[in-house]
Amino acid sequence: MGLLQNQNIEFHMRDSLQKTLQSNIQGDVFFKKEFINYYSVDASSYQIYPKIIVIAKNEKDISNTIKIAKKFKTSVTVRGAGTGLVGSALNNGIILDLKKFDSIKVNKNYVTVGPGTLKGQLDKILKKSKKFFPPNPSIGSFCSIGGMIGNNSSGSRSLKYGSVVDNVTEITFIDGKGIKHTLPKNKIISKKILDITKRTEFKKIPKVTKNSSGYKIDKIKTTKDTQNIIIGSEGTLGIIISAKLKINKIPKNRILFIIEYKTITDAVKNAIQINDTNPSAIEFVDKITLKQIKFSFNKKTNCILFVEYDEKLISSEKKLKKIVTGKIIKKLNKELDIFQWWKYRDASLHYSLKSIKKEKRIPHIIEDSAVPLENLLKLFTSLNKINKKYKTRSISYGHVGNGNIHIRLISDRKRKQMIKNIAIEFFDEVIKLDGTITAEHGDGLARSEFIKKQYGKKNYQIFKEIKKLFDPNNILNPGKVISKKSTIIDNLENF
Ligand SMILES: Cc1cc2nc3c(=O)[nH]c(=O)nc-3n(C[C@H](O)[C@H](O)[C@H](O)COP(=O)(O)OP(=O)(O)OC[C@H]3O[C@@H](n4cnc5c(N)ncnc54)[C@H](O)[C@@H]3O)c2cc1C
Repeated sequence: MGLLQNQNIEFHMRDSLQKTLQSNIQGDVFFKKEFINYYSVDASSYQIYPKIIVIAKNEKDISNTIKIAKKFKTSVTVRGAGTGLVGSALNNGIILDLKKFDSIKVNKNYVTVGPGTLKGQLDKILKKSKKFFPPNPSIGSFCSIGGMIGNNSSGSRSLKYGSVVDNVTEITFIDGKGIKHTLPKNKIISKKILDITKRTEFKKIPKVTKNSSGYKIDKIKTTKDTQNIIIGSEGTLGIIISAKLKINKIPKNRILFIIEYKTITDAVKNAIQINDTNPSAIEFVDKITLKQIKFSFNKKTNCILFVEYDEKLISSEKKLKKIVTGKIIKKLNKELDIFQWWKYRDASLHYSLKSIKKEKRIPHIIEDSAVPLENLLKLFTSLNKINKKYKTRSISYGHVGNGNIHIRLISDRKRKQMIKNIAIEFFDEVIKLDGTITAEHGDGLARSEFIKKQYGKKNYQIFKEIKKLFDPNNILNPGKVISKKSTIIDNLENF
């Protein structure tokens, strides 16, 4: 078949898909270039042009979209706020935007939310009842609850409060056949999930405190926690339409210490000791971020730790002072000061971008690994080896309490094969150190192909059975999590 003929078929198919969606969807259907362009990118370095955009108005729109996608042999990828860093919300079929599903209903110990709710909206409403939902990605108010659940997001306070998977009690979603389920309420489906996941090979599960790679098969212990299978599934098992989130009381007082260190080794060794004092957060930034903070650090300072406590403040301070090996340069207990210094930490990704020329910015690929904290120094050693071998440089910052370091590599952006080689070598090291290839950002286009290596054949087979249970026709976000193709360097934007 000639190119022209192919283009013709493609055009007619798109035209017919558009008309079918328009006559069956009560929400909006967009197909103009500016919409296609907008939804072709997110906060990652990838770009994939979708065919059409559906902004669903109600549940029926979602199941209809799935059924129509099946008929037209195309895919449905749900999009939250598009702040994901590895292209998880990008695909070439229908993009389903659930921004209109933004209801919030606060109860005593939980809140029921629609997936399109922005984290900022939720924080504002919960604040009125002096409550909060703990996972706090550094992107702040801009991400959606659907996207947070989709990626199993976390943040600085996950050290004490856990990731999304530790904070959701119920999820209602529509699967790849267009059927609605509520987990763990649905006992038949819950039993099916447990029957599959009880074969989990635990020795292949990363020994970390947070993990966003693959399906959370290790978090299904009984039929009462089967909602966890949807968490971190990146829209590949079901479209979440509502979730019940655990909420906590906002702590009355907090105290934040800023501690400077001469070397990364000193900081990491001390972080291991500080972790035993039960802080709510231990975060790390290196020298590059320090340059952007309005404070005159000692010239010999190479990195700082942010250490926060939100209970037992007096005894915690005493414990910290006994073991601290760096120099405490700030002790902050006023909310405004604490907020300002957390803003410096949260802006690390922005600062790192600011300090590198665009053509030297290597895409996010190895930016989110975590290892057991006692192995973190070894991970830094592996990073140094990579830098030496490939003549790259790197900036690092992150959630050191969880052993989770964000790495931004600096080199010639166009060295695609080098990017892939680095990922292969680095992830091998991460897996050897009992770590995860992604602690909070998800697998997306960058890491799905490494999941089999991460979890081993047996667990990967379990992932495939779970996918088949919910999405037998592979309609939901194909190519993510379960992936036959290498996508790490395909579809990189402007390459
Ligand atoms: C500057 C910056 C800092 C960041 N810091 C952090 C951080 O500290 N911690 C962290 O965890 N992340 C961080 N991120 C990554 C990202 O912001 C989070 O993972 C965020 O939770 C993604 O939310 P989103 O709404 O943008 O999701 P999207 O990117 O739109 O989607 C993410 C995934 O969720 C799926 N999804 C969305 N809605 C649904 C739904 N209704 N049903 C099923 N699946 C769904 C999508 O298909 C996709 O696979 C950061 C990003 C940036 C740009």
